[in-house]
Amino acid sequence: MNEIIEKAKDHFEKIVREQLDRVDKLKSEEDWTDYSILKPIIIGIVNGDGIGPIITKHAKIIFELLLQDEIRNGKVELRVIEGLTIENRVKVMKAIPEDVLEEIKKCHVLLKGPTTTPRKGDKWPNIESANVSMRRELDLFANVRPVKVSNLGIDWMFFRENTEGAYVLGSKGINITEDLSVDFKVITTQGADRIIRLAFDYAKKNNINKVTVVTKANVVKATDGKFLAIAEKIAKEYPEVKWDDWYIDIMTAKLIDPARQSQFKVLVAPNLYGDIITDEAAQIQGGVGTAGSANIGKRYAMFEAVHGSAPRMVEEGRSQYADPSSIIKAAALLMNHIGFIEKANKLEMALDICATYEKKVVLTGRDTGVTGEDFAKYIMESLQDPNLEEKWKSYQ
Ligand code: NAD
Repeated sequence: MNEIIEKAKDHFEKIVREQLDRVDKLKSEEDWTDYSILKPIIIGIVNGDGIGPIITKHAKIIFELLLQDEIRNGKVELRVIEGLTIENRVKVMKAIPEDVLEEIKKCHVLLKGPTTTPRKGDKWPNIESANVSMRRELDLFANVRPVKVSNLGIDWMFFRENTEGAYVLGSKGINITEDLSVDFKVITTQGADRIIRLAFDYAKKNNINKVTVVTKANVVKATDGKFLAIAEKIAKEYPEVKWDDWYIDIMTAKLIDPARQSQFKVLVAPNLYGDIITDEAAQIQGGVGTAGSANIGKRYAMFEAVHGSAPRMVEEGRSQYADPSSIIKAAALLMNHIGFIEKANKLEMALDICATYEKKVVLTGRDTGVTGEDFAKYIMESLQDPNLEEKWKSYQ
């Protein structure tokens, strides 16, 4: 018994030391990257695995079209980064192989295809999620996900904390005995402060008068309690922004309540709750295949589809029917982030026209609809339509 407890204590001590070091690093953070003075801005395109390379290819072609002038005059460089596949990661037993990480760190922003994370019972050994590792390595603390459903009055912007919470030590839990397993959840003052502040800042800058904080602070008292207490403190600095707080369980219900839906605007949550409600919101928007997301840090930023590598689609030979809208939306978010706001808006409009309004071709995920390639071609045609904006306005 004593030996078991000592082993668990050693494990816990190591975790506490690592986290205290992380807090020290957080306290000495650098400033935000200024893309306007960078030349070239290096956009890394990381294919991922499963349906990743198939959908990411279409986003690259769209970048090549929209950023052709910037690529020609050296303001932008597109750089494809190979090797972030489950096969390669398993070969070296690393969430992100060293050489791939090195290449990633040479870029300023990344467009990343989905990557498989092995789970119990899979054919793959247990390695950490490439996303969790990338968020930590590049300190991408904010996962920002827009969700818009105009006919339901929904215009949500989610700020999910990306570097701590229930996931940061997700692979570092312990099976203390055969019968007892313990996982760890971490919230730091600095980590909670920067994400909550980002959400309040966003609300203020965009004249949005509402921030909703999501926790389970009534039960998970130390970590969620800290998150909520920090929100309360920060809210005082933004008297012009109203705020409220909800528990994750009732929040998941209220997001599908027509009487409530349109009242939520900016939502901020720790990692796991943010993961849950953003997938729910993506479903309300039209399925995970349609949602893009931004992972923002001060130095790096990574943009990706909300969904995973869809192994079932691959196994069933349906990859060519995967919807590329999610990664194309992520590409729009990326362009917006690095300052090409007009081009990003144009892409959003083309996506809106093709997927929501005009629907000349439709994806169903199967051979009952068109392929992702046909859909991407449709978006490209739409982008080259000189009347794109007028057309889009006519649908509003
Ligand atoms: P998933 O999102 O990969 O797929 C679930 C289902 O959603 C699919 O079977 C498919 O029906 C549908 N779907 C997803 N993307 C689609 C698209 N573009 N077009 C049409 N339909 C689409 O979820 P999962 O099966 O839980 O996860 C598969 C793997 O992906 C796991 O290893 C998981 O860990 C990983 N994952 C990665 C990321 C990421 O890299 N950001 C995110 C989530 C999951």
